[in-house]
Amino acid sequence: MVFFYHKEQKMRLTDDRYAGERSQFELALRMIRHEARTRTIRECTGLSDDRIRKLYARYFRDSGRTDIKRRRGKSPRQVQRYVKSPVNQLQATTLVALYCAGFLIRIDRGNRVHPCWPRPDVEFGHRLCRAFETYLLLHGDAKLNFEWAWNLLQCISYNDELYLAVCDSCDARYVQDAYALDNRTCPTCEISTTSGTLIPHAPVVQ
Ligand SMILES: [Zn+2]
Repeated sequence: MVFFYHKEQKMRLTDDRYAGERSQFELALRMIRHEARTRTIRECTGLSDDRIRKLYARYFRDSGRTDIKRRRGKSPRQVQRYVKSPVNQLQATTLVALYCAGFLIRIDRGNRVHPCWPRPDVEFGHRLCRAFETYLLLHGDAKLNFEWAWNLLQCISYNDELYLAVCDSCDARYVQDAYALDNRTCPTCEISTTSGTLIPHAPVVQ
């Protein structure tokens, strides 16, 4: 009986390890598809650079998938990217809302952002991918790639260069640069005012 008990326990341990590794690989492949950097993939999956390189080679480079590129080096860092136009600002705000919905961050009553994950892991990575994939579905003209999305999550969680401002017209929260002048107008209100939707239609030329 003792033998069977040990055998069963050993099998369970092997199964758990197998499930854990499978989850790591699935996440790595999901992130490679989004052209995440090796360093970002390593931080979330815990896989070594060498294993990530081999996965990429096996499933993408050697399979004829030339549309997926492997990015190296550090993630981009400038917060300007998120606020340089109302469209970018709106898209960054969408991502922050999705991070909140995925419990990657928490927004308190004072609109301050708090990270919910002590450090990246496989579950964190899958939630980040889910948020990014939903963002791509919502914005056909996506201005932010996966690395910008990853960097936004870091900036809004730990950095004081970005914060959530409140719109005077519609009370919506939006991503804003802490060092820029804020006219308390959210990107949606800004776009609807400047897009000409309030201007009367010109007569149609036949
Ligand atoms: Zn507004």
